[in-house]
Amino acid sequence: MFDIIVVGGGPIGLNAAIKFSENKKILLIEAEDFLGGQIIKLYPEKEIVDIDGIPSIIAKDYVTQLIEKCKQNANIQIGLNEKVNSIIGTNETIEVSTTKQTYQTKKVILAIGLGTSSPRPMGLENESKCKNILYSLQDLSMLKNKNVLVLGGGDSALDWTKEISKISDFVTIIHRRNEFRGNFDTIKGIKNVIVKTPFIPVAINMKNNLLESLVIRNVETNQEETLMADFVFVNYGNIPLVNTFGLVSLNNGLVVNDKCQTSMKNVFAIGDVARYENKKHRIQPGLNEIKILDNIIK
Ligand SMILES: Cc1cc2nc3c(=O)[nH]c(=O)nc-3n(C[C@H](O)[C@H](O)[C@H](O)COP(=O)(O)OP(=O)(O)OC[C@H]3O[C@@H](n4cnc5c(N)ncnc54)[C@H](O)[C@@H]3O)c2cc1C
Repeated sequence: MFDIIVVGGGPIGLNAAIKFSENKKILLIEAEDFLGGQIIKLYPEKEIVDIDGIPSIIAKDYVTQLIEKCKQNANIQIGLNEKVNSIIGTNETIEVSTTKQTYQTKKVILAIGLGTSSPRPMGLENESKCKNILYSLQDLSMLKNKNVLVLGGGDSALDWTKEISKISDFVTIIHRRNEFRGNFDTIKGIKNVIVKTPFIPVAINMKNNLLESLVIRNVETNQEETLMADFVFVNYGNIPLVNTFGLVSLNNGLVVNDKCQTSMKNVFAIGDVARYENKKHRIQPGLNEIKILDNIIK
């Protein structure tokens, strides 16, 4: 019997496991065969500047130190490559069934983020065949001095455009609207970034399983342009596949009250998966939710 089962080994699940391990027996379960969540999957090399008390840190360094703390902690047992399929509450205990076995626990903290998500593609013919179309970036240096087209209008597209502009003079960001959803100030004034709006990608010219150029269309004038590229980096977000375990859910997330409680007794949700008014999908709000839980779980 565990005191707490934390589901999800992203930054918030890792922080929660560490926080509550002092006097509790914790099991941390992660569906992938690695810990770190979106940080490791999508942006290990990016700089993070918006965590309280940490002025700046490379994303993978942030999460690596958390992983090390978890691994060295005798009160934390880690299950990798193990997906939680169901959570059943009884009077005294909760039964958590995974792809490997069933566990008993007193409490469950769900930190499953975007679930087991997959990146949203452009939806163009031959897209899946082109090896130089990227949806995440493990190694920024591969784009050094390359001609890169970044697609998307959110913060990740803008953040990546800024990062790539530091190592290449040939970066174009393409977005379907004139206004960006993310903070445009991120790239404002950077001289070697070309901004193309309002454009959508409409076709790929491909040779030997590599994209040679991308055809884009101006959605106001319908005029098309063909842009040569070494890499196209698509930042259209993810198609979430969240298992909501039969709990009250909203927009692929779990509805929680101001104590992070879900609709099942002793089952809590924190991090990107938690839904409440004005919820922001960043690390700091998840850390704030751990502080709230601390008062309840003690
Ligand atoms: C490109 C990009 C840049 C970003 N930059 C920043 C930034 O600069 N600053 C910032 O604060 N935030 C940033 N974010 C957002 C930040 O990454 C998220 O807010 C954060 O990862 C949420 O952490 P989490 O632990 O809640 O979820 P996740 O990181 O999504 O982790 C959830 C984990 O749960 C696992 N899981 C899911 N379902 C199951 C299951 N059924 N069983 C077992 N395991 C399961 C998943 O495999 C995953 O490992 C960025 C996001 C992106 C995409």
